[in-house]
Amino acid sequence: MPLRDLASGLAYCAINTATLGFQAPIAATIEAVARAGFGGIAPWRREIEGQDAAAIGRHIRDAGLVVTGYCRSSFIPAANRAVFDANVADNMRALEDAAALGAHHFVMVVGGLPQGSRDLAAARRQVAEGCGRLAVRARNLGVRLALEPLHPVYAADRSCLNLLSQALDLCDALEGETANPWVGTAIDVYHVWWDPNLAASIARAGQTRRIFGFHVCDWLVPTEDPLNDRGMMGDGVIDLPEIRAMVEKAGYSGLIEAEIFSARNWWRRPIADTLEVCRQRFATSC
Ligand code: ZN
Repeated sequence: MPLRDLASGLAYCAINTATLGFQAPIAATIEAVARAGFGGIAPWRREIEGQDAAAIGRHIRDAGLVVTGYCRSSFIPAANRAVFDANVADNMRALEDAAALGAHHFVMVVGGLPQGSRDLAAARRQVAEGCGRLAVRARNLGVRLALEPLHPVYAADRSCLNLLSQALDLCDALEGETANPWVGTAIDVYHVWWDPNLAASIARAGQTRRIFGFHVCDWLVPTEDPLNDRGMMGDGVIDLPEIRAMVEKAGYSGLIEAEIFSARNWWRRPIADTLEVCRQRFATSC
């Protein structure tokens, strides 16, 4: 099957609102993304919490957009049981907003080591337990849980889930093999492009129907800040068409989401300009 044509198929493409630097309220962001012709949007909790998530969901649908992922979980591992329970509860509340928004999935960035800890294995056990509890609630709400493995540079402070294969192992442990999985992965090129086993892991994710989301940006050389110096698609060293081919050949038919944390560049530009460059780069560089 040939790859989808993103030049004439902007409806296959989505914008993660972080790409636009949170410069505008969510209502204006929804209108800007729809006006530019994209098919979907991935909002963040800071744009939704404290407001009427169902009404925002209706606004998004009325604008002709779908919600890909709702970003994102707060961190799960904790230094003691009470804080762990509170961390899980915080994400339970976010799942309700994900359902109210009509989000396809809730993005899980699971957290790294609790402060003062060196026990990475214990943090990973807490993540498995917390995700297990959240998965039950997510399924009841009709929201998929998308585990997003993060580049190992974040293992200490943002995510102890660092390989796609590791995320898939956790999916298997939580849910087993099923024709209609509620636990899967969000594959972000920024986090996985370097993985020598990427092709095999993407194929495995496809076989088990566990690719829920696909995020694109680029890896700049040099990178000034591993968190907020992501590049626009085509400006770095990631072979985006190659990875997209793996993902689509694995059966992924969902939207391709631009997610660019860029404090020194894209966040300083007018929203309409960034959206236009995203449109061009989806067509030429993905
Ligand atoms: Zn991502």
